Amino acid sequence: MTHDDIRSWLRQTEPGRLESLWKHADDVRRECVGDEVHLRGLIEISNHCSRQCLYCGVRADRTGLPRYRMTAGEILAAADKAVALGYGTVVLQSGEDWSIEARWLAEVIRRIKAETPLAITLSLGERTNDELALWRDAGADRYLLRFETSNKALFARIHPARPGAEPRDRLAILRYLRAMGYEIGSGVMVGIPGQSLDDLARDIELFGELDLDMIGLGPFIAHPDTPLGRDGQAWCLPPGEQAPADELTGCKAVALARIVCPRANIPSTTALATLNAEGGRQLGLARGGNVVMPNLTPPAYRAMYEIYPGKASCGETDEFDRQVKAGIVAMGRTIGRGRGDSGAYRLRQAPGPMKA
Ligand code: SAM
Ligand code: SF4
Repeated sequence: MTHDDIRSWLRQTEPGRLESLWKHADDVRRECVGDEVHLRGLIEISNHCSRQCLYCGVRADRTGLPRYRMTAGEILAAADKAVALGYGTVVLQSGEDWSIEARWLAEVIRRIKAETPLAITLSLGERTNDELALWRDAGADRYLLRFETSNKALFARIHPARPGAEPRDRLAILRYLRAMGYEIGSGVMVGIPGQSLDDLARDIELFGELDLDMIGLGPFIAHPDTPLGRDGQAWCLPPGEQAPADELTGCKAVALARIVCPRANIPSTTALATLNAEGGRQLGLARGGNVVMPNLTPPAYRAMYEIYPGKASCGETDEFDRQVKAGIVAMGRTIGRGRGDSGAYRLRQAPGPMKA
C-alpha cells in the first residue's frame, strides 16, 4: 500500500467504501494471525514520571495526583492472577520512573520467569541501553515504545527532552531493542493537535518499514490538566488537514496498520474503549485487532494511572475477564493460548529460506 493509498483511505468517508476497508483488514487478520485473540494482563507498576509530555495526565508537573509505586510482592501477585486467568503475557508499564531501580526490576522479571510461564512485555519509557540489556538478560521478551508521531518537529514540541539531557531518538532505541532480541512494539496517538492526515499516513507507512511485532494505536484524548488538553485547540490544523482524534480515524488506523504489518500483534486499545464504552473494543477487534489488554493493576492504584480522563479501567477483574472472553466468543473468535508471540518475530527467527 503506497503513501497515497493510505492517505486516501484516511480521508475516505463513504460508508460502502469503508466497509471494504474493514473487510480487507479483517481478511488479512484472519489469514495472517488467525482467529485467536490474545489476552495480555496490564500491570501499571508506577505512575511516577520524570517527563513532561504535553499530552499525558501523569506528567511530572501535574500536581494533585497521588503517586504510587507497586512493590515486588504486588507485581508478582498480579502476575499470578494473569496465570490464573489463563493469560500468556503480562505487560509491565509505568511512567518514566528512574526510582524503579534497574537491578531491582531485573530481579522481579527473573522471579516472574522462574515462577510462571508468562511472556513479559515492558513499557517503561526511554531507559538507558544498559538497563534495557539487563532486563533482556533477566528474561524480558518484548518492549513497547511508541514513537507517537513521525512528524519530528511535532514530537519535539509535545515530548520535551529530560532537563539537562540530550533528546533520545526513539527509532534508534527501537533498533537497539531489536538487535538485543526483544520483540519490538511501537505506535502513535491518532489526532494529536497539529498532526496532519499526511503525518498519520507517514506514521502507518513507518510501521511497515520498522517491520513492527506489535502496534499500539489509539485516539488522543485531551486531559484538562495538561498543556495539550488546555491549549490543544489552538494547535489544530484547518479542518480537512488535521487528523481527527475520533473513533472512526482510530479504526481506520488499526485497519491500515493490519494491512501494512499483516503478522503484527495489534491490540484493540483502551483509548478506543474509552471513546466508545459499548462497542469500541469489539470494533477494534473486528477491524484488524487481535489483542486485548485487561487491566490487572490493583484497584486501589488504577484511578491514579490517569493518563487521560475517563480511562476505561476494565472494572472488577474477574467480571471484566468473563465479559471480554464472552465477547470474543460471541464474535466467532477464540481465546488465545500460550504466549502469543508475534508472527513477524517468529518469521524473522526462522532459519533458512523462511527468514524474512
Ligand atoms: N511512560 C511510557 C512511555 O511514555 O512510553 C509508557 C507509559 S505511557 C502512559 C503509554 C502511552 O500512553 C504513550 O505512549 C502514549 O501514546 C499514551 N498516552 C499518553 N497520554 C495520552 C492521551 N492523552 N491520549 C491518548 N494516549 C495517551
Ligand atoms: Fe511519562 Fe509516558 Fe506520560 Fe510521557 S507518556 S508523561 S513518559 S507516562
